[in-house]
Amino acid sequence: AAKENGRNQFQIFSESMLKETAERLTMEHALRHALGNKELSMHYQPQISLTTGRVTGMEALLRWTHPRLGSISPSQFIPLAEETGLIVPIGEWAFMTACCEGKALRDELDMDLTVSINLSPRQFQQKNLVHVIEHSLSKSGLSPDKLQIEITENMLMVNSEHVLDKLQRMRELGVRISIDDFGTGFCSFSYLLEYQVDRLKIDQSFVKKAGTDANAAAVVRTIIAMSHGLNIKVVAEGVETDEQMRFLLRRKCDEAQGNFIAKPVSQAEFCEVVRRYANNPSAPESEPVSGL
Ligand code: C2E
Ligand code: MG
Ligand code: MG
Ligand code: MG
Repeated sequence: AAKENGRNQFQIFSESMLKETAERLTMEHALRHALGNKELSMHYQPQISLTTGRVTGMEALLRWTHPRLGSISPSQFIPLAEETGLIVPIGEWAFMTACCEGKALRDELDMDLTVSINLSPRQFQQKNLVHVIEHSLSKSGLSPDKLQIEITENMLMVNSEHVLDKLQRMRELGVRISIDDFGTGFCSFSYLLEYQVDRLKIDQSFVKKAGTDANAAAVVRTIIAMSHGLNIKVVAEGVETDEQMRFLLRRKCDEAQGNFIAKPVSQAEFCEVVRRYANNPSAPESEPVSGL
């Protein structure tokens, strides 16, 4: 019986592995054709100033809708794109699209909006990354100082020439650097200063708990104080509730982004969201609710 059991377990194990492998291969195969089949698009999530309540910029986020598999989340396909190297052509397309659409939005709305774009580790191994960025900027007409590159802390810490040299050249172009998901990695102060980081984005996990959990609140307060001390702008991401918003206002966070303000939307919808804000600025007021 034990032997039989063992075999059954093995069968179950290998079947689930097989299923996983098959799913992965299906997705990988589909991803190879996603660009050519025009299944990718960019969405834009507004970022607002907590001092004026106005929209200050947008984060560009990749979206993939496959005709049969449906919409697939970036947290599923970005890692796959990284492993297969497909992130290189996809990332190039994303850059060009976000720069062009972002520039069009700035012009259409006649507002001084920044455009943030995520870069993942594999993209830094791309030899011509800086040229790709330069090309996207010149073709779109987006001014370099309106472009924010979002990288995670750990990418600054790898201390590889790839990353450090490329970041330096981006800075020389005039492009701004944001540290994404801040608080979850291992960044040292010296890196923040050396690379003249312009913005820190407080990771969603802290923001979510900041209104209710004293430790998370302390982390958020500390990141805000540190950023202000270093003259770095601080953005809270993943703001989902009124309570979180009020906490951030009270703690003088500079900017906020999250579904409470607006979900990521297409280029066309972005105009409507911003016009709604312009007509009815949320006029943030810092009202004390609790001790946090
Ligand atoms: P990220 O850069 O940290 O982006 C923020 C993520 O939080 C986005 O997920 C966004 O849709 C989501 N989000 C925003 N507000 C809220 C909220 O209030 N609640 C919750 N629960 N989530 C919120 P998304 O679009 O699924 O992207 C996931 C990650 O994929 C991004 O994390 C980024 O690391 C990566 N990614 C997305 N687009 C690109 C791209 O064009 N290039 C590269 N290299 N990576 C990308
Ligand atoms: Mg990001
Ligand atoms: Mg993030
Ligand atoms: Mg991230």
